Formats: sequence, structure tokens, C-alpha cells
Amino acid sequence: MIEFSSFSFAGQKALVRVDFNVPLNDKFEITDDTRMTATIPTIKKILADGGSVILMSHLGRPKDGPTDKYSLKHLVNHLHELLGGSTKVFFANDCIGEQAMLTSHMLGKGEVLLLENLRFYKEEEKGDEAFAKKLSNLGTVYVNDAFGTAHRAHASTAVIAKYFDSDKKMFGLLMESEVKSAEKVMNEAQKPFTAIIGGAKVSDKILIIETLLDKATDIIIGGGMAYTFMKARGGKIGSSLCEDDRLTNAKDLLAKATEKGVSIHLPEDSVIADKFAADANIEVRPSDAIEDGWMGLDIGPKARGIFAEVIRKSKTVLWNGPMGVFEMEKFQAGTKAIADAVAEATALGAFTLVGGGDSVAAVNQFGYTDKVSYVSTGGGAMLEYFEGKELPGIAAIKN
Ligand code: AMP
Repeated sequence: MIEFSSFSFAGQKALVRVDFNVPLNDKFEITDDTRMTATIPTIKKILADGGSVILMSHLGRPKDGPTDKYSLKHLVNHLHELLGGSTKVFFANDCIGEQAMLTSHMLGKGEVLLLENLRFYKEEEKGDEAFAKKLSNLGTVYVNDAFGTAHRAHASTAVIAKYFDSDKKMFGLLMESEVKSAEKVMNEAQKPFTAIIGGAKVSDKILIIETLLDKATDIIIGGGMAYTFMKARGGKIGSSLCEDDRLTNAKDLLAKATEKGVSIHLPEDSVIADKFAADANIEVRPSDAIEDGWMGLDIGPKARGIFAEVIRKSKTVLWNGPMGVFEMEKFQAGTKAIADAVAEATALGAFTLVGGGDSVAAVNQFGYTDKVSYVSTGGGAMLEYFEGKELPGIAAIKN
């Protein structure tokens, strides 16, 4: 496999798949540019080598072809700024066709072309070969830097790779570091290895827990999903979140963990509330003795202490999903305590990876981004990776 850093892009037209799927407000202003900034080093290296860059991405979920709301033209000015203000950034209002072809052809070294939203063609998500071939004609080398869509077998993320020789396709810097961090946890984790799984739904996390039973020494379960496990163990959970159709799954996972010698840590106590609201009345109760009409919305002080202790002793930590409804101040303490412990473990030399939308948002919100080893940009992709699936975007470059 070609290493991005050692490849010289001089004279090349690099066709780079990025994940510029950023949130826009009503005025088409970017409200969070993390996904754009994450890939700037890749673009800059190609330009510095004397190459030119053709960027392709999706934005949102357009249903009926070209829609102004989902146009990547809204990103051009910001991209220009992020590149330092002196790089020429062109825009093609169609990702294939004559204009894209011509602009790409005319593109000088050190210049950038941003193509219009790939998903204006339904062929993109269908992984259409003819569409992928047309895209491939725009560049001389293919770089995939879109970890966020690596779990999709789309035309621009996977299918396109076959139209480039093996010495003309590679991961970009962002994708490279995402893959390296994920592999470090999945294949080379030093023990004790603690996985912290939280968030709302058990059904979303069953596969990842299942895979981790063969990898981790400890699994901490928090958030709304913990109550399905509490109920499966015979606890009284009041009106806490519960997926009754997953009780058997939860029981099976607990039994398997015992069989495999993996310690599952459920929150001993909870911060309970009399309604799902920022101004709810709150109390602390054992997580298996919650009165009717009350719901667990965060892990309690005892659980925080126990979880933190396990985390601090770990050499590898994987964290996906918040411990409570961290969007409301009254239910933040659990997620904050976990972020604190993960930061401490990192300072003590552990490798710590935070992945998945809401835990990443929490880590950013509480200012812990630089205190953990790696924060992944790819929520769904990271999740599928840890479910043990082969990601098409990775396989297309590697194989
Ligand atoms: P997920 O997308 O599955 O990772 O879930 C994240 C969401 O779970 C966040 O919006 C949290 O507010 C929510 N959440 C976490 N803990 C709880 C809880 N105990 N009850 C209800 N929702 C929760």
C-alpha cells in the first residue's frame, strides 16, 4: 500500500474524497467546520508538492437531484480561508460532465477544484460503476480522506478505487490516522483494555459489545442503554429508557461476559428525574430501585467513582456514547467524570480513543479534545469498524 506522506504529488491531479458533510444554518453558514479542518493537512501536502487537488464530497441527504440547500458552493469561501487565503479555489457546479472535466484539465499546480455534491446523482450511493468511472477520469491519483463514509460502498468511496493502479491510490492523512488508531485498539490493545459504551439505545450497540467481549478486559455500560441491562438482571427501573425486545439480548451478553471472564460494569446508582427536562426534580437512587414515574438520566456519584477507578487503571480505552443526558446541565456530571478519568488515564500513558458522534461532542464541549490520544471524526464508520466489519472504503485501498 502506498504511504501518502512518502508519495510525491508533483504534476499530479489528486482526486480526493473528503467528508465535507458539515452542518449549515438557515443562512448557509457553517456551524461546525471540524470535518473540513480535519482534512486540510492532506490538501496542503498535495499542493506543497506541486500537485493540484480536486475535491469531491457529499453534503446532507438530497432526495431529488440538485438542490440549492445542499450545494457545496456554500463551502467555497470557507475552504479558501482555511487554505490560507492565497490558494485559488474553483467550483464546478456538477461533479461530472464537461465543466468538471475542463476545469480539472485546466487546473494549475497549487490550485484546488471543489466539485458539486456527489449525492445529486443517485448513482453515488448505489455504487454505480459508470458514474465511478466518470469521476475517476478527473484525476491521475485517488486519495480517500473520508473516514466518515468509509463504511459505505459508494461510487466515490469504494468503487472508484478499481480505476486506479495500486500505486495510484492511497489514504489521505486523516484517513491514515483514523485507521491506525482504530487498528491500535482493535488489534494491538495493551491490557487492561476498558471499553466504555453509553448512549440511548442498546439495539445500536449490541454488535459492538459482542465484538468487544473478545477484546476488552472491562466493559463499562452507561447512558440510557444501561437500564435495559438493569431490568434484565431483575432491577426496578421506573420510567427509564428500556428496550423490552432487547432484554434477552442483554441477558445473553451478560452471560457471555461471565463465560469469557470480561467484567461488565453497570452503574450502581443513578441521578433520577421526575421528568425528561432541564428543570426536573432530581434525586440519587440505586439504579435497580427506581420508583415508578422517575427515570435515570445520568450515572450517580458511586458509579462515577467506580467507573473512574477502572478507567484510570487501563492501558487502552475506547469510549463511545455519553453516560447521561449531557445536553442538560443537571445530567452532565457522569459524562464529565468519565471524560476526566479518560484524560487522567491518557496522562498516565494509556492509549485512549473517543469515537462516535455524541461522545465526541461531549469531549469537545467539556474541553477534553487535547487530553485524549485520539478523537475520531467518523461516528458510524468507527462503530462499524468496532463491530468487526470490513469497511468498504478501507478495503478498496488495501486490497
Ligand atoms: P447515542 O446516539 O445512542 O450514542 O445516544 C446519545 C444520546 O443518548 C444523547 O443525546 C443522550 O442525551 C442520550 N442519553 C444518554 N443517557 C440517557 C438516559 N439515561 N436516558 C435517556 N437518554 C439518554
